[in-house]
Amino acid sequence: MNTLERVLTFLQDLRSHLDGTGDMPEPRTLAEFALQRLTPMDLDICINIVETELVLWEESGLHVRPALHPYVSERIGVYTLDDEEVGRFLGYPECCVEYFLEGHVRFDHDPDNVVVVTEGFVPCSPTCRRAHRVHLLEFDADPEPYRRLEGRLRTRLEKLGVLSYHSAYRGFYEVHVPKFEGVHLDRPY
Ligand SMILES: [Zn+2]
Repeated sequence: MNTLERVLTFLQDLRSHLDGTGDMPEPRTLAEFALQRLTPMDLDICINIVETELVLWEESGLHVRPALHPYVSERIGVYTLDDEEVGRFLGYPECCVEYFLEGHVRFDHDPDNVVVVTEGFVPCSPTCRRAHRVHLLEFDADPEPYRRLEGRLRTRLEKLGVLSYHSAYRGFYEVHVPKFEGVHLDRPY
C-alpha cells in the first residue's frame, strides 16, 4: 500500500468511526486531532482530495507521489503533531526523518542531477535510495511530466474549491537542479 492509499484508508476509517460503524483508526494521535476539527462534510472533502490525487498520480505513471494537499494535512495534524510520528505516517524513511530532526527543514543539497521530490519532504541525500523506494524522490529526473501532472492536479482540485484557500500552498512537487537554488514547479497561488 502506498502512502496516499494509506492516508485514504485512514480517512475512510475515520469516516466509518464518525458514522458509528468502525473503530478509531491508527495512529490514534492523528485520529483524535482530526476528529476535533473535522465535520463529516470536511472529511468527505478530504477523502475526495486524496482520491483525486491518487487517481491522477496512478494515471500519470510517474515515480514520485504528489504531496498531500494542505487542506488534508492541516486537518489531520501534519503541521502540528510530533514530526517523528507524522513522518512515519507519511512513509518517510528513518534516515530522512533523522536528518530533518537534526534541523534540516528544507532541501539543502547540491545534487549532481535534476532531483524531483514530494513537496515538503526533505531527503537525507539527493540520492537516498530508501526515499526513492517509497516514491518520495527521483534523481536524474525529467521534470516536464511532473509539471504536467502538477497542472492536472491543480485543475481538478480547483473544481473541489480547495486549491487557493491556503496561504502556504506551494505545490505538489519540488524540482532541484545542480548548483542552483531549488525551484518550485509553478508560481505560488
Ligand atoms: Zn534518507
